Amino acid sequence: MGATQEKLIVIAPATGKQIGEILETPISQVDSFYQNGKTAFLQWSNLDVSDRAKYLLKLKAIIVEQMEEIAKIIAEDTGKVVTEALVADIMPTLDGIDHIIKHGEKILQRQKVKTPILLIGKKSFIEYMPRGVVLIISPWNYPMQLAMIPMISALAAGNTVILKPSEVTPLVGKCIEDIFVKAGFPEGVVQVAHGSKEVGAAFTNGKPDYIFFTGSVRTGKIIQQVAAKDLIPTTLELGGKDPMIVFADAHLERAAKGAAWAAFTNSGQVCMSAERLYVEKNIYPQFLTLLKKEIMDLKQGTDVDSDVGSMTFRSQIQICKDQLDDALRKGARLETGLSPEKWENGMFLPLTVVTNVNHQMKIIQEESFGPLLPVIPFESEEEVISLANDTVYGLNASVWTKDKEKARRVASKLVSGAVVINDAIISIANHGLPFGGAKQSGIGRYHGDAGLRIFCHEKAIVEDNGRKKSEIHWYPYKEKYPLFLQLFKSYFQTKRDWVRFAQYYLRILKKN
Ligand code: NAD
Repeated sequence: MGATQEKLIVIAPATGKQIGEILETPISQVDSFYQNGKTAFLQWSNLDVSDRAKYLLKLKAIIVEQMEEIAKIIAEDTGKVVTEALVADIMPTLDGIDHIIKHGEKILQRQKVKTPILLIGKKSFIEYMPRGVVLIISPWNYPMQLAMIPMISALAAGNTVILKPSEVTPLVGKCIEDIFVKAGFPEGVVQVAHGSKEVGAAFTNGKPDYIFFTGSVRTGKIIQQVAAKDLIPTTLELGGKDPMIVFADAHLERAAKGAAWAAFTNSGQVCMSAERLYVEKNIYPQFLTLLKKEIMDLKQGTDVDSDVGSMTFRSQIQICKDQLDDALRKGARLETGLSPEKWENGMFLPLTVVTNVNHQMKIIQEESFGPLLPVIPFESEEEVISLANDTVYGLNASVWTKDKEKARRVASKLVSGAVVINDAIISIANHGLPFGGAKQSGIGRYHGDAGLRIFCHEKAIVEDNGRKKSEIHWYPYKEKYPLFLQLFKSYFQTKRDWVRFAQYYLRILKKN
């Protein structure tokens, strides 16, 4: 388009090697992106859901065919191990596409709802009308699924999409663009704007019809403020500081393995990773020994058998250092890992467990988004519920016990978008469940039925067959007031008194 394009040099975080270059989308192109999206919307929104699903089917086939290649791109661009690229980024994307292909038509079709007797003779429906051009801004930690699930949901619902993927993992953004092109989506239905936060800000200011944002609380607040100026609706999927609660009657070996995985998968760069571990006091020393053993056995690296990869984003390392420094200065004890001054300069951080921590420390209050696991003993159910809820976040949580009643009781008291019992994180993998946060972890939900319907105007339709000359609530009101009074009294006092209801109703009708 004639505008100069900045080049993003892409460095693999795990190896430090240059692995590609990406051209930034010039900000001068924002208007033409929206224009293309609006034009494409006219056709795309008129297709049946089943016709849109055919494109998704093609998309799925391409991802399956290129699975290994995509896993390699994700692993290189993020530093995560290839097994996690496959299991936690590609698989949930494919399963999300399947879910929408299977259930999308039913979720988005016109739904008949009951019409109350006071609206006698009418029918009521809910219709789902696509909104227009949806802006999706995504982060770097699960760069495929966190971009693609909102994309395919918005598309299935009849919207066109502009994706602004994270500049930290731009090769995955490019890979997503290529997959959509290959799947043959009509021009303008899916557009990808590559680049930094300035590009994201320019598109946010471009007046999309909906913004779906996944990222930090800080950026979420900025986006919400910009959107508020034009009352643009948003979904915000933000950070977390998720508690993991282990009761003495849990399967301790399982819980220790689960804690190691939940804290260190993706090097802890997971919005739902276990970032605070509460362990019942009478098993605390025993559990700590089991946990340390699990961590000793983990292998950090880049080869196919490695368990834990590198950090993706260098700035995250400083946040982890600050939090650990603060904790150690205030008396925390290292159980595994090293103190920050001994950390090497690379992107692999020591897998760190700290004890003797409390709720006044940053490591307990602020999102770490790295491989730090603070552990706190607790004595009672009430105490641990209150500790777990003592946070500005509320994304996910886990409760570990063999006592089903207790697990459900505690789960229902946690202020959290999701709770997993005797496992962690995996609620996001069930596309039938809503996903989203409480408190500062976000606004709104996706996945599940809501995941498609948020991308629609939910329209109420009341239908009359139009054959009656008039309605009882229309003019003239003359002599109707006492009859309405009797009608509503008979209706709301004794709903089963149909005879009296019909008498009053007919008398008012005659007044028309
Ligand atoms: P971030 O907020 O820095 O960036 C996210 C995206 O927003 C990027 O594409 C970035 O370019 C863009 N952006 C930044 N500033 C912007 C602005 N002013 N206007 C428009 N766009 C802008 O977040 P991140 O570092 O990429 O991701 C990590 C954060 O995301 C963590 O806090 C994590 O907890 C959260 N997260 C939440 C979920 C969830 O589903 N709730 C999932 C993954 C990550």
